[in-house]
Amino acid sequence: MPYPSTFPPLDIPDGIDLWSFLFGHKHRDFPVTKEILTCAETGRSYSWADVRSASIEFGKGLKALWGWKKGDVLALYTPNSIDTPIVTLGALWAGGVVSPANPLYTTDELAFQLRDSGAKGLVTQPAYLGTALAAAHKAGLPPERVVVLGPRRDPRGRTRHFASIRSTSYTGRYAKAKIAPRRDLAFLVYSSGTTGLPKGVGLSHRNMVANLLQASYVEGSQWRSRGGPDGAGDRQLAVLPFFHIYGLTCGVLMALYEGWQLVVLERFDMEKALRAIEKYRVTFAYVPPPVVLAFSKHPAVDAYDLSSLKVLHSGAAPLTRELTEAVWNRLKVPVKQGFGLSETSAVVCCQTVDEWAKFMGSVGKLMPNMTAKIVGEDGKEVPEGESGELWLKGPNVFAGYFNRPELTKEAFSPDGFFKTGDVFRRDKHGNFYCVDRLKELIKYNGYPVPPAELEGVLLGHEDVADACVIGVEDRANATEVPRAYVVLRPGVAAGDAKAEQLAEWVAARVAPHKKLRGGVRFVDHVPKSPSGKVLRRVMRAQAKQQEQRA
Ligand code: AMP
Repeated sequence: MPYPSTFPPLDIPDGIDLWSFLFGHKHRDFPVTKEILTCAETGRSYSWADVRSASIEFGKGLKALWGWKKGDVLALYTPNSIDTPIVTLGALWAGGVVSPANPLYTTDELAFQLRDSGAKGLVTQPAYLGTALAAAHKAGLPPERVVVLGPRRDPRGRTRHFASIRSTSYTGRYAKAKIAPRRDLAFLVYSSGTTGLPKGVGLSHRNMVANLLQASYVEGSQWRSRGGPDGAGDRQLAVLPFFHIYGLTCGVLMALYEGWQLVVLERFDMEKALRAIEKYRVTFAYVPPPVVLAFSKHPAVDAYDLSSLKVLHSGAAPLTRELTEAVWNRLKVPVKQGFGLSETSAVVCCQTVDEWAKFMGSVGKLMPNMTAKIVGEDGKEVPEGESGELWLKGPNVFAGYFNRPELTKEAFSPDGFFKTGDVFRRDKHGNFYCVDRLKELIKYNGYPVPPAELEGVLLGHEDVADACVIGVEDRANATEVPRAYVVLRPGVAAGDAKAEQLAEWVAARVAPHKKLRGGVRFVDHVPKSPSGKVLRRVMRAQAKQQEQRA
């Protein structure tokens, strides 16, 4: 029997788009003047009402200047900034779809996303303008469709500045776009799914509204009972990237819905994070496991007053029991865990503060309105307590990969469950445990690394005859790292110098999180299926065996 959520079902509205849901929030129990976005470095901030009005101005500007239409895609290529939620919500107000990209992407990686999503505009920061313009050019997007955030304008006047789009002079002439929340997309986030190269995960307005309500029920209620909003329980350190679904939903959107104050760091830096916790009396943070590791080990932790910190929440990659215990022993801060995917608008399971110690290692209980199956290789459900692939249904589950009907079909079972590619078990109390990964995705510091993409880069090197990339565990850094197994062309000598050369070849062509930190190893052949598909699971098993023998 499928497992329904153990939480009572919620009433998820059908007819409301994400912007109206956030800003029409009837049950809002905080003042509209509450500061929601605060830049940790400069102290610059926006209140909830500022975000609402600035997003309308930006949306009107898109309509006025670019004739923005429903479904037009705005891509983002920027590190965290308090301005990105405004352009995000502004594009949604105008009926657009937002497609955020990792600001460390190379020109080719960004150009791929711009082309694939059909982006009609790109938002960036001055320091990223060179790559942004080169990628825009490759994707056929003119420079005047590139918008720059931040205090400075492009001295060469090629691009538009955020302030010139966000102008109050359009007031009244443009109306908010009419949205069909089930059908119309709000976000196109890029993920490699269970196989292959990155693809656009289409998340509808209803998917996002549902996940906010689900997460709010389980997560927000904990803060409400602990003194938030505006009390002692609601100041979040935003270290997660806003371009990833975890930072987008649990950071930006939850903050606007719940009235949490988000103290925004451009990117993760432990010293800056600690300083911000002390200065702003931060009460909690959503983080990936390597940040939990930093809280357990980093020497600077002892130099700051972290007494305001009530809890850390870890997600995006597996968290070990040892790390949870190490943070508790050092700081007496509970580390609870959650689980989610891009395809589920983020949150699927989440521990509560009361349960983290009792069920350590679990990712918590299934969100309200979701149903899960744990399925064996024969496609049948396994008995409770046994492991199998996690399949999911619920209002937060995406409808499909953008323009990829075949892949979408493969991602769902005939009875409509999304096949996650993760191996899970569930205990008799309804707690879920993530025990392994069937799919080929590698996660470095919580960032997805698609192995097929790295293999493609390696195959572009004249000395490489074949390649297989897998994730190997790096326990010291609480993460996986990508490692390549390479077959060289006849006559090419293997050795450390060649391994280094190939690792550098890859590093020069991909974003930094995709570097071959696990090294390059040489093999005689790469395991393949009869149809020629690289059998990365076989390689992973071989690597594990070798490691155990060593
Ligand atoms: P993404 O779409 O980038 O959010 O990646 C989703 C994938 O991250 C999941 O399918 C899992 O493989 C992995 N993941 C997320 N949260 C956890 C967790 N708590 N433990 C283990 N793996 C996780």
